[in-house]
Amino acid sequence: MENKISNRVTLKKKNKIFWIDDDNKRETAAINLSYQLKLNYLFRNFRNKNFLGDLHDYLKEAKNCQLIVIDHRLDKIKDKDIINGPSVAEIFRQKLPGLPIISITAIDIVNIDTHAKNVYDEIISGSRIGENTLKIAALVKGYQKIRRRIPKNERQLLKILNSPKADDDMLISIIPDVIKMGKITRESIKKISDWIRKVLMAKPGFLIDKLWAATYCGIKFDSFSKIELKFKEDIYDGVFSNKTDIRWWKSKLISKIFVLNPTYKSIYPWEAARVFQEINKNDFSLCGYCNQEYPEIVGFTDNEAKTPIQLHQHCSIPHPKFEKSLFFEEIRIIKD
Ligand SMILES: [Zn+2]
Repeated sequence: MENKISNRVTLKKKNKIFWIDDDNKRETAAINLSYQLKLNYLFRNFRNKNFLGDLHDYLKEAKNCQLIVIDHRLDKIKDKDIINGPSVAEIFRQKLPGLPIISITAIDIVNIDTHAKNVYDEIISGSRIGENTLKIAALVKGYQKIRRRIPKNERQLLKILNSPKADDDMLISIIPDVIKMGKITRESIKKISDWIRKVLMAKPGFLIDKLWAATYCGIKFDSFSKIELKFKEDIYDGVFSNKTDIRWWKSKLISKIFVLNPTYKSIYPWEAARVFQEINKNDFSLCGYCNQEYPEIVGFTDNEAKTPIQLHQHCSIPHPKFEKSLFFEEIRIIKD
């Protein structure tokens, strides 16, 4: 119970979650999530009902909600041959483009196809809703923010990212076309959200996660907590940011390393950061392939790119499943 309370977050408007399911048991999850998010909820159970029959009413109900939650499978509804989680999501996305949609699933997320993945904002395992509360809250808040004032040009987008000046020109050059071309509609909200959440925040480049941050500091993942506070101002606090999955602006973190160690002569941040007094030899990072010092990158050990480790550039090769994109780190895999 204690844990639940500490996870609660404040969303400004008291409003509702619209939950679509075919299993009454899931209502407990809806109650828990609504409690955590401080939102009310509408739970609609379609077991043995035709979903499409009353669609008009559901859309009306969902209109004033802040979040749509859909059971991915929906195999106990009457019209299950023509309707499933992704198609329900598509209908809601088309009619209510300003609302975030998450899917709750009991099956392994890896087994969900790309089309379905793209129609949802987020897919969350039914047993892991609690640990994703802050992420869901950040999604709801982010959509609220963008909905209130959809960024119509590059400057307005940079403003909601609160990006460092040093990065602005590069960011502008890769901003999604809907913004560049000024063709902003309510449908653009998902595109803008996808770009921020699934490109900018997900791919290391402008923003980096804790393992990358530790690597740039020349230390192990667990040792980063010793010096993490030094980089407090370099944390990404723009739209969709969330405290359980922190990102740092790479450019700010690296320049901070040199600012804090002005006398250190190396041009490499992973050398310069090791002179922090909190850091000792046991904290130094080692390459996961050759076990030598100064791994400069984070690469993966596996084909699915699920297990990241610190590696030397020369102890890794480009990951066959990923293409290099401008201004982002190349995704690499450990050598055989
Ligand atoms: Zn190595």
